[in-house]
Amino acid sequence: MTKALLCPCEDVTVTEVDHCIAQGYRDIESIKRFTGFGTGMCQGKQCMNAVARHLASSAQPPKPEALLAFTPRPPFVPTEMRQWASLDVSQLAPGGGVPPALGFTEAALKPVAPVKPKAKVVIIGGGIMGLALAWNLTQRGETDVVVLEKGYLCAGASGRNGGGVRMQWGTPSLIHLARRSIDLMERFARDMKINVWLRRGGYLFLAKSDAIVQRLERSAALHNQHGVPTQLLTADGAQEHVPDLSLTGVKAAAWNPKDGVIFPWAFLWGYAQACQKVGVAVETFTKVVGFELGQGRITKVLTDRGEIACDQVVLAAGAWSPSVASLCGVDLPNEPHRHEICSTEPLKPFLGPLVSVLDSGLYFSQSMRGEIVGGMGDPKEPAGMNLGSTSRFLARYSRALLELSPRLGQVKILRQWAGPYDVTPDNSPILGRTKGLSNLLHLHGFVGHGFMMAPAVAERMAAWMATGQSDELFERFELSRFAEGRLEREDMIIG
Ligand SMILES: Cc1cc2nc3c(=O)[nH]c(=O)nc-3n(C[C@H](O)[C@H](O)[C@H](O)COP(=O)(O)OP(=O)(O)OC[C@H]3O[C@@H](n4cnc5c(N)ncnc54)[C@H](O)[C@@H]3O)c2cc1C
Repeated sequence: MTKALLCPCEDVTVTEVDHCIAQGYRDIESIKRFTGFGTGMCQGKQCMNAVARHLASSAQPPKPEALLAFTPRPPFVPTEMRQWASLDVSQLAPGGGVPPALGFTEAALKPVAPVKPKAKVVIIGGGIMGLALAWNLTQRGETDVVVLEKGYLCAGASGRNGGGVRMQWGTPSLIHLARRSIDLMERFARDMKINVWLRRGGYLFLAKSDAIVQRLERSAALHNQHGVPTQLLTADGAQEHVPDLSLTGVKAAAWNPKDGVIFPWAFLWGYAQACQKVGVAVETFTKVVGFELGQGRITKVLTDRGEIACDQVVLAAGAWSPSVASLCGVDLPNEPHRHEICSTEPLKPFLGPLVSVLDSGLYFSQSMRGEIVGGMGDPKEPAGMNLGSTSRFLARYSRALLELSPRLGQVKILRQWAGPYDVTPDNSPILGRTKGLSNLLHLHGFVGHGFMMAPAVAERMAAWMATGQSDELFERFELSRFAEGRLEREDMIIG
């Protein structure tokens, strides 16, 4: 055991990196996420080479192309929020941005061995949905499961989100799922032996317009009917929960002390490791490239590492689901929409709840490490898969945040990134069967709230798949609802 530091900003030691490598995470992106190296003030400038050298000298060194630097990417230097806020947003066009520079070429990490030729269940997508489902299937006795993930774990929206978990939803189905998920999250660290830093500091929704006040009133009444203790507050009442913020212009607020924030990355590893321990094949850097069909079923899933004959296929590819579904002729209505998010330098704890202004789509919380992590939707963002980072986002976000907290103006933004919302026409997920392709099951379309739904949805879906008993969730949210005009509109959407 050595306490020698590889990353001085985040106190990451040689032993921690060795532990990560021993868990099988042998690429720079995964080591960064597993240990937190490179996420501090220097953004990897001091530690990137040291970690790469250490990985290169490990017992099974990866190919040199798996050891590329993940920087640079904006903000190139930590920059005060007041500087971002002073930019003229009208001069910053929507779309575009600097794409993430990965710390490897994907070919360098693709396993050489073919995938196993046969499995009962093939799950496409190694995000929170796919992994949570795989784990729940094992709890029902089904371990002949393969999870196919084209990148590293955490590559999709599940590794790029804000970690907010809340029961404050606009439909009974989502209220119940979120409540159950948060219960399961409470137990996750104990059950999975991994810390997920669940902090139940509450969610405070702020309304600045009459329309949003009415939305909060409607949803709070629904929450109370379903056992969620949401309270409607005046601006003065809200101020008691956030004494350091300026609530000028706020007309009302909704507050649920039982909501909170978790750390997403650890959740994925928790599920992935638990799956692997009981024999599930979690195949990273393995892309689905097609399907073989016969008699109204998928008979084989074709990957860039060989084909897998299977009984059931679950599409859990998040915002990539429409492109995967098109490979077997299924047309999905989901659209990917980029959402950007960022993190500041750490501050002493001052903010209890996750705060969101529903009018503008601004949200932010303070992490256990003290950083302010937050984002804001952009109504001008064009649809499409784009993981680029923009100055336009930092300018809009900083301006909106400084309205609530001018003294954060001198605080520096350290990191920004982006992920895809998986947006459906009614903002509700797509679950259940496909008409005309009997063994293709859907588990996607979770817009900007899939992380907090995953533990409960996966639990229900595994029970539904394993027992064959009907469950109204998988009928209510079927793909066919769009053609049949049975929309399930959800309006408590941030951003
Ligand atoms: C900025 C941002 C903030 C968010 N904040 C929150 C929040 O606070 N709370 C919350 O609950 N949710 C939040 N979300 C939403 C949440 O992250 C997602 O709903 C959730 O992670 C979706 O999980 P998933 O498994 O469906 O998709 P993903 O995590 O995207 O996983 C899908 C996986 O499929 C893989 N894949 C794609 N194509 C293929 C292929 N051909 N072959 C093999 N694999 C493939 C992808 O690489 C990807 O890893 C946020 C999202 C973003 C972008």
